[in-house]
Amino acid sequence: MKNLRSFLFIALILIVSETLAVAGSSYAVVCNSITCDFSDSICLGGGFIFHQISGYCTECQQFVSITWRRLEPKPAPIGHVWDSLSGAQQPIYACPNCGKPFSEIKEIEDLTHCPKCHKPSLDKIPMMLYD
Ligand SMILES: [Zn+2]
Ligand SMILES: [Zn+2]
Repeated sequence: MKNLRSFLFIALILIVSETLAVAGSSYAVVCNSITCDFSDSICLGGGFIFHQISGYCTECQQFVSITWRRLEPKPAPIGHVWDSLSGAQQPIYACPNCGKPFSEIKEIEDLTHCPKCHKPSLDKIPMMLYD
């Protein structure tokens, strides 16, 4: 009986972590510099139904994202730039609002500097997981 209980417990953990792995995450992003008033929210990843690419549009001065249904093909980038810091090629996508280019933010950890004042002063507060 005890074995069945631990089996069910492990199964439950697997189901929950699986759900977290496929769900998108939303964060409130606030600059904590006194001279800067930047605050916005960003959604990263996707859910069961859709996927998305998120980034910061310098033209719109806000986080933007392109979403598509999971079964549809991933939208093609409008170009690539070479990042000399990482040596990697970074795909560039068109902003859905203004059409200007933005680069993808893959992980919330990659978001370290404020897009407005450029200081390493961002607070990222997890808001919710969604699907
Ligand atoms: Zn834009
Ligand atoms: Zn700032």
